[in-house]
Amino acid sequence: MIVYDLIIIGGGASGIMAAITASQYLDKILIIEKNNRIGKKILVTGNGRCNYTNAFLKTTDFNNPAFVENIFNQFDPQDTIDFFETLGIEPKIEDEGKAYPLSEQSSSFLDVFLFEIKKRNIQVELNKEVIDIFKKNDVFKVVSSANEAFLGKKVIIATGGKSMPSTGSNGSGLDLAKNLGHKITEVFPALVKLRVDSPYLKQLAGVKINTQVDLLVGNEVVQSEYGDLLFANYGISGPTILELSRKANEKLMKRLEVFVKIVLIQSLPKSKIIERFEMFKSREIDQSLIGLVNKRFINVLIKEAGIEKNNMVVGDIPKQNIFKLIDLLYDWRLKVTGSLGFDDSQVTAGGIELTEIHESTLESKLIQGLYFTGEVLDVDGRCGGYNLQWAWSSGYVAAKSACEEIRKND
Ligand SMILES: Cc1cc2nc3c(=O)[nH]c(=O)nc-3n(C[C@H](O)[C@H](O)[C@H](O)COP(=O)(O)OP(=O)(O)OC[C@H]3O[C@@H](n4cnc5c(N)ncnc54)[C@H](O)[C@@H]3O)c2cc1C
Repeated sequence: MIVYDLIIIGGGASGIMAAITASQYLDKILIIEKNNRIGKKILVTGNGRCNYTNAFLKTTDFNNPAFVENIFNQFDPQDTIDFFETLGIEPKIEDEGKAYPLSEQSSSFLDVFLFEIKKRNIQVELNKEVIDIFKKNDVFKVVSSANEAFLGKKVIIATGGKSMPSTGSNGSGLDLAKNLGHKITEVFPALVKLRVDSPYLKQLAGVKINTQVDLLVGNEVVQSEYGDLLFANYGISGPTILELSRKANEKLMKRLEVFVKIVLIQSLPKSKIIERFEMFKSREIDQSLIGLVNKRFINVLIKEAGIEKNNMVVGDIPKQNIFKLIDLLYDWRLKVTGSLGFDDSQVTAGGIELTEIHESTLESKLIQGLYFTGEVLDVDGRCGGYNLQWAWSSGYVAAKSACEEIRKND
């Protein structure tokens, strides 16, 4: 029976990167993938454009900055851009350092990967879900659900987290790690749309605004984001919400009360709004708000301010309702009740406990020769190319470390 130098479980971003890296040093490399194709998730990244790295990456954009620093020091965004250029992917750097392929197609990545895998003679077993891993006499036995066994000197678990399981990442890698004795921190969806408790969602569905959104726990602001916010039937989404969702879910799991505060008016001081209502004293209230906020908010704000009719004349409305309305323009709170869950989330927060992993090689401290890459580890980053960068960097480092160990022992 063939003994592979390296078996990689999971043919996603980090697994493919590991295989290509290792192929520079090793001959017998096997990727085992449960789907009928590799890289399924890559196709849906960046809305089909694949935001594959971020030129402004900082380690503080990740949940575990100290841990990721060791890995990014070995393979950073510039290395990523250079690496993909050698494969044929020309970069296009957009706002906030987000890098996309010049082709604007995530399928370009899959095409170059398939080309490289063939050229480098990397073996791929598709439609095989790994269900067990054993180690005996320095050799790993990797068993698939069809009860097939594969032998390898080193193993990389690159199975992803639990986000968007339709792409293959169903959390089975976490179970494999657990069975091998690793601790798993609590996992929950991040970069995900939020559900809010509001009677106005149907009315507002489809509205998009560009503004500041704060996340509050009780009355305390714990995170602020600026950018697009979208209303939908189920709640709210958009880049601001995705960024806030990790902390929102973390706090909700602790049974804390979580709110988003939407700042509808950013650029005008309150005094200017007070003057405006003075000036429009004889106008109907709904008319007085035209040109100030998106029209779809007008009836909502009037109701929230306790104003009985939207055609009441401003001068006839009690002062306290006018002031309530003005306050809402600067601080409109919606109670967060949950998220759309793993099915919708872009990344999994939590994963394999990092204290059990060597921070410069990604080798298990419990089982020599076993490595982990990508989202299966307790590492997640912001939206904007950070999570794929983690996949590339961790795939590179784990493969390089495994190769060095093999060469040392041969
Ligand atoms: C909709 C969406 C958009 C995204 N957009 C971006 C973006 O633009 N930029 C960015 O940086 N990040 C983005 N991400 C996040 C990024 O795609 C992931 O962080 C990254 O793909 C994780 O790589 P990975 O190798 O750890 O896991 P994955 O890419 O999830 O790959 C894991 C692979 O392992 C296989 N597998 C799982 N279990 C087993 C098993 N037991 N046996 C065999 N095979 C198994 C799976 O089928 C899968 O192919 C996005 C995610 C989603 C869901």
